[in-house]
Amino acid sequence: MRIAVVGSGMAGLTAARTLSDHGHSVVVVDKGRLPGGRMATTEMVGGARSDKGAQFFTARSPEMTEAVGRWTDVGLVHRWCSGFTRSDGHPRYATSGGMARLMHYLAEGLDVRQSVHVAAVRPTEHGWEMTWPQAHGNPAGSLVADAVVVTTPVPQAAALLDGIAAVPDLAYDATISLTLALSAPASVPSPGGVQLSGDPVWSWIGDNVAKGTSSLPALTLHTTAEFASAHWDDDAGQLMAELVALAVPWTGGAAVVDARLHRWRYATPVEPYPERFCEVAPGLYLAGDAFGGPRVEGAFLSGLAAADRIDVDGPQLLPEPLAASYLDATTGVVTVSNEGAGYPKR
Ligand SMILES: Cc1cc2nc3c(=O)[nH]c(=O)nc-3n(C[C@H](O)[C@H](O)[C@H](O)COP(=O)(O)OP(=O)(O)OC[C@H]3O[C@@H](n4cnc5c(N)ncnc54)[C@H](O)[C@@H]3O)c2cc1C
Repeated sequence: MRIAVVGSGMAGLTAARTLSDHGHSVVVVDKGRLPGGRMATTEMVGGARSDKGAQFFTARSPEMTEAVGRWTDVGLVHRWCSGFTRSDGHPRYATSGGMARLMHYLAEGLDVRQSVHVAAVRPTEHGWEMTWPQAHGNPAGSLVADAVVVTTPVPQAAALLDGIAAVPDLAYDATISLTLALSAPASVPSPGGVQLSGDPVWSWIGDNVAKGTSSLPALTLHTTAEFASAHWDDDAGQLMAELVALAVPWTGGAAVVDARLHRWRYATPVEPYPERFCEVAPGLYLAGDAFGGPRVEGAFLSGLAAADRIDVDGPQLLPEPLAASYLDATTGVVTVSNEGAGYPKR
């Protein structure tokens, strides 16, 4: 089957890898410059590295435990700790060199196309068509697939599927991330991560050296959802200055060598969907952490579940009347060519 995956985060790459291993022709497209989505690592001035999104992950399910075992065996992932203020017995895993390294590893050998911002997914008589405009030096294009897995945050999926399928209405909390390269080690107590509750600004402080992301001093600080929404539209320069000042208790007196701000509009789904994926039309699936649970492991389980379902279902032809009504409602998108955007051979 020809399968298109929108999103090269944990859910998308897990679905793509599983389907590709099962012999399907899979293309992954993502609007970002690099694979990983919310599992992203910032290269700082001076050579330090900071995970700016996900900080660690759990492996409570047998599926994730098995995957983490494989990533550990190849030297990518290690057990960081078993909790922060106190041990709860559940291992937290980190990626040596940063989360982006794991995501590059997962993308290896797959047909993953970055800087492709999908504008719409529409039914055609040949299958589901994704289209994207020219951007970042990439030409405009389209791709037709027998099945599409959309792993973007759900409000972004709703925009892609506007008028085509009913998408669950799921809300997300935002977070603002501050990453700092420092001249000397930070002062974050062992094991190098603090989850704060009740703090008016910060929800997380992480020492990137302690968890093996960076060999040079670097901190990651995440704001609470409340702070993020109150300051979402603040001027970037002013916000950065304010947050750097508020980070001083954690910098151990070190000078700030480099500072970066990232606004994650869709950081965490507030109330995930009760199932691991959602088939919104025949052959059209939504997956991601809004379905599997609001964390890396949830995204992984969701991608896996969507892939397993596609494998079992086989090609899902749009029922004739449904296809006809879609095509009537869709002007100018009836016949499509895959020229220049071919699928890899099985
Ligand atoms: C600040 C922060 C801290 C976190 N900390 C942790 C943690 O410590 N532990 C943990 O387990 N989880 C953590 N999480 C959550 C974790 O990162 C996510 O649950 C997980 O990475 C989600 O993966 P995903 O594949 O579902 O989505 P994403 O990683 O968001 O992937 C979706 C992809 O879709 C792409 N996309 C969107 N729209 C389009 C479009 N129109 N066209 C093409 N591509 C598109 C995006 O570029 C993105 O790459 C954190 C998240 C944030 C933001």
